[in-house]
Amino acid sequence: MAKKLNGTVIVTYRCNARCNMCNRFKAPSRPEDEISIETIKKLPEMYFTNITGGEPFIREDIKDIVRELKKKSDRIVISTNGFFTDKIIDLCKEFPDIGIRISIEGLEQTNNEIRGLPDGFNRGYTTLKKLREMGMKDVGFGMTVQDRNAPDLCELYKLSDELGMEFATASLHNSFYFVEAKNIIKDRPMVAQNFENLVNMLLKSKSPKKWFRAYFNHGLINYIYGQKRLLPCDMSFDTFFIDPYGDVMPCNGTKDKEVMGNLNDQTWDELWNSEQAEKVRKVVRCCDRDCWMIGSVSPAMHKYIWVPAWWVIRHKFKALFMKKPYSMYELKVVRDYRDGKVSKEELDKCSTCDFNAVANNGLKDCGGCTGDK
Ligand code: SF4
Repeated sequence: MAKKLNGTVIVTYRCNARCNMCNRFKAPSRPEDEISIETIKKLPEMYFTNITGGEPFIREDIKDIVRELKKKSDRIVISTNGFFTDKIIDLCKEFPDIGIRISIEGLEQTNNEIRGLPDGFNRGYTTLKKLREMGMKDVGFGMTVQDRNAPDLCELYKLSDELGMEFATASLHNSFYFVEAKNIIKDRPMVAQNFENLVNMLLKSKSPKKWFRAYFNHGLINYIYGQKRLLPCDMSFDTFFIDPYGDVMPCNGTKDKEVMGNLNDQTWDELWNSEQAEKVRKVVRCCDRDCWMIGSVSPAMHKYIWVPAWWVIRHKFKALFMKKPYSMYELKVVRDYRDGKVSKEELDKCSTCDFNAVANNGLKDCGGCTGDK
């Protein structure tokens, strides 16, 4: 039996939001170029599929896309900004067992400022509550943490917890996907302190899933200090992304778009076993971006389960007799920065932020053209 993969399908680059950390809305795909149902039918069997964008609910045929992906995937989660409440509800009536993650970037004012969506918080929050009322189980928030919203991190977690929802976190990244090269955390200790508080709250919960989330958030502190990933990155070996143009890529974290092949023109087997795919796998093996996004970390956490499991065991043990079982100063770099052994400038150099770079927007038909920043 063929090995099942973990896939992310970027169904559109169109987006109705105007987030301050993502310029994708300036380089949208054209509807007529976007991945068709025929191409989706060529995707392999997957144990997990994330549908994302842009804003996926902009696609008029999102229901047809989900219907096709349901045939080949054990689990589907859609990432959305939650703005198109009626469309989301309508889809979930037909597919009540899918997951929905709504990006909310903080409490009301912070969220609306960051996402540039009028009334975005209330729209997203209302959608989440309606999904819950419908009995949808796999529903949650997604938050990309930056200096501006870090103080809201624990409040938002509490809100999601009260509603019995999942709470997914990320931090700023730079890549062709976000058409962005200038994202950087400025006040690392402040942001890390908020993550530390969240890690402690998660460790105190009764849910093993949340204990592993605590490990993921520990990895985010490590990431914002520009350190090596805590787990290997095996993207393109058992995990892939496909963009609206049918291009299959290892991930969405690379500086420039890395293409393994095009599913509009090839069969899956031709593409996945091609020389070009092998070339990209070599690039991945040497990749030094060290990103820490759930798309690449979740498969690694499953594959190298003993690493997070050992971390969880140690911290749950500490939780038996300590009020705060986790400290960000467990990470050497955080101690070194506090003690003045490493400077902010040195840490900035370890990040993927490049103020002089022009981000490649990864658009299909304009070759090496650049984003308009
Ligand atoms: S570290 Fe992994 S996920 Fe990040 S850009 Fe490199 S290959 Fe992609």
